[in-house]
Amino acid sequence: MYGAMRDELKAKLAQIRADGLYKNERVITTPQGALISVKDGKEVINFCANNYLGLANDPSIREAAKKGMDQWGYGLSSVRFICGTQAPHKQLEKAVSEFLGMEDTILFGSCFDANGAVFEPLLDQDCAIVTDSLNHASIIDGIRLCKAERFIWEHNDYKDLDEKLKAASSKKMTLVVTDGVFSMDGDIADLKTVCDLAEKHKAMVMVDDSHATGFVGKTGRGTHEHNGVMGRVDIITTTFGKALGGASGGCISGKAEVVEYLRQKARPYLFSNTLMPSIVAGTLRTLEMLSASTALRDRLESNTRRFREGMARAGLEIRPGTHPITPVMLWDEKLAHAMADRLLEEGIYVIGFSFPVVPRGKARIRVQISAAHTEAQIDQAIAAFAKVGAELGAIKK
Ligand SMILES: *Cc1c(COP(=O)(O)O)cnc(C)c1O
Repeated sequence: MYGAMRDELKAKLAQIRADGLYKNERVITTPQGALISVKDGKEVINFCANNYLGLANDPSIREAAKKGMDQWGYGLSSVRFICGTQAPHKQLEKAVSEFLGMEDTILFGSCFDANGAVFEPLLDQDCAIVTDSLNHASIIDGIRLCKAERFIWEHNDYKDLDEKLKAASSKKMTLVVTDGVFSMDGDIADLKTVCDLAEKHKAMVMVDDSHATGFVGKTGRGTHEHNGVMGRVDIITTTFGKALGGASGGCISGKAEVVEYLRQKARPYLFSNTLMPSIVAGTLRTLEMLSASTALRDRLESNTRRFREGMARAGLEIRPGTHPITPVMLWDEKLAHAMADRLLEEGIYVIGFSFPVVPRGKARIRVQISAAHTEAQIDQAIAAFAKVGAELGAIKK
């Protein structure tokens, strides 16, 4: 029976290759960090992980995770409500709520699951979801599982958001949904305007802060802190798989009743296994560190400024902003990939992004700065971009 499917898949795979869209996984041979080795043994400076705070291989988090495993075991072999809840799970939910400034929190195996879980129980066919056109794939999928009517507003166009909210105004309840940070451009949502418009139209606000939790905002609480709207966002989803140690796991944080109801109804919570104790313990340690000191997010901020300013001085075109996601605009697909390949030869690990990940003709290299980078490593990257950029004709001026 498989023959027909094999033929079809082979043809589809050949097409993906022919379109230049085939994704190869580059095998790294070290733990995650500012310096990693790739398969041929060469050491490179890593500028493409979501390891914003450099905590992915932090010794004290590793130690906490080991202790968590020794005390609480390797796994739970159960969903939360049967026999998969231990004291640390409750502690982590409390710690996340405090860190984000929300009433309560519910844990998931990933933020993808959290976004898959959040909409369907809360909103029915008489409700509306107003969603940014560039929202993350997991938000799009979560909305698909839900019967609410969907209104898509044009990214960054708050006049359009106003209009879509007006169009949704006859609905019983409306939820506005946005990424806090958009991962291809590194732009931060204007949550002040989003909250004002939501208030005007009596809608609720949900933010996915996966690229912000731990470092955006003066004390790293996220884009609601950055935008001065703490207390005005109703629901936050986020991941433990990026800045917060980078293992895995995610959550929904929000009003007490929302979280209580989701514990009863959210399908990825009811029908999927609980977070492993070592991740719970590691994430608890991460939040303890980030609550005690802003040193890491401060270093990330100054590294980001150093990189952005240095790149502009070197004549490379970067998208303006303050987020450690720094898109180096090359526009041309082939140039973006050629440049990323040449940079790897120079010891700088970056990835070129092109259609369909970004719009056609807007190809770029997405650089991600980390608190783990030294100033010397940042300067080395700028020098390599200047050298390779000149070689390939990518320098303006
Ligand atoms: C990375 C990301 C996710 C997925 O998080 P996981 O915990 O890896 O599933 C969801 N939303 C956004 C905006 C993200 O950037």
